[in-house]
Amino acid sequence: MSCKDAIHLICWYLEGKLSRSVAREVEIHVGECKDCYVVLEAATTTLEAYFNAVEGKSVPDDMPVHQAALTPLPAQANKVA
Ligand SMILES: [Zn+2]
Repeated sequence: MSCKDAIHLICWYLEGKLSRSVAREVEIHVGECKDCYVVLEAATTTLEAYFNAVEGKSVPDDMPVHQAALTPLPAQANKVA
């Protein structure tokens, strides 16, 4: 699997949309590729923040949910190249 393929699949991987065998290929790739591991980590953090916001956790009352979900996380926003 190329980095391009892995990065393309990471989103689906995190949403649990990949078949077990394809998900395993993504896991193997990020286990060996530091660049893609960084992408996966950043994407995981973003997705967790998104789901937390959707569930109403850790979101200030004065911050709209959609705004919280779209706010880039400090220090991680620029790592995805
Ligand atoms: Zn890679």
